[in-house]
Amino acid sequence: MRRPIIAGNWKMHKDAKETTALIEALTPLVKDAKAEVVFCPTYVNLKDAVTQAEGTNIGIGAQNMHYETQGAFTGEVSGEMLKAIGVQYVVIGHSERREYYNETDEAVNLKAIKALSLGLTPIVCCGETLEEREAGNAQSKVVGQIKAGLKDIDDIEKVVVAYEPIWAIGTGKTASKEEADEACGWVRQTIQDMYGKDAADVVRVQYGGSVKPANIAELMAMDNIDGALVGGASLTEDFAKVVVYD
Ligand code: PEP
Repeated sequence: MRRPIIAGNWKMHKDAKETTALIEALTPLVKDAKAEVVFCPTYVNLKDAVTQAEGTNIGIGAQNMHYETQGAFTGEVSGEMLKAIGVQYVVIGHSERREYYNETDEAVNLKAIKALSLGLTPIVCCGETLEEREAGNAQSKVVGQIKAGLKDIDDIEKVVVAYEPIWAIGTGKTASKEEADEACGWVRQTIQDMYGKDAADVVRVQYGGSVKPANIAELMAMDNIDGALVGGASLTEDFAKVVVYD
C-alpha cells in the first residue's frame, strides 16, 4: 500500500514572515491528513520553516539542490547544507528549472543519487510540453526522462516521482484524470522495466499541474496517482482542502 504524498511548491513566493505564518495557519488544518504532507519554501526560509514545522506532521522540502558537496558554484546550495538544517525532501528537475536554468536529465540523475545518499527524499519531476503531447510524443518524453534521470539508483523505492505536464503547470488547465493516470502509469512501467515489479509497486508517483480543491479527490482516486505536487493552490490556507481531500 503506497502512502499518498502531497507537496506544496511555493516557488519564489513568500518572505520569512509569510512563510512561517502560512505554516502556522495550515498546521491545525492538516494535522489529521492521511497523506504525507510537504511544504517547499524558498531556500532562505527553509530554516525558519523547519523550526515552525517541528512537532507537526509537516515535512519541509527544498526546491532544488546541487549534487556537489561544496565548491565554487556561486548561488548554489548543496544537499549536505539542506540536511544540516533539517530539510527532509528536495524537488529535483522541476520543469521551470529545466527550462530557465538548462537543467538536464544527467544533472537530475546526479542530484537524485546525491539526495538519496544523504537521506533526503527526492521528488523527481518529469513531463512533456504541449507540442510534444500534440505530436504524440508525450510517452517517449516521459519514459526518456525517467530512464535517464533515475538510472543507477540504489534506493529506488525511496524516490518520489512527480509527473507534471508542462502545459498544465500554472495554466489552470488540468490533465484529465485519465490522462494523468495514464502518464503516471508510464512512469511506473518504466521503473518496473528498470528495477522490477517490487520496486515499481512501492514508488510513489504524484501528479502535478493545476491541482486544486475541486479536482484533487478525483485525481487521487486513480490507480497510478499517489499524490500531488501543487504550485498555485498551495500558497493559501485553502491548500488544506487539497491535503485533506477525502
Ligand atoms: C508546479 O509548479 O509544480 C505546479 C504543479 O504548479 P501549479 O499547481 O500552479 O500548476
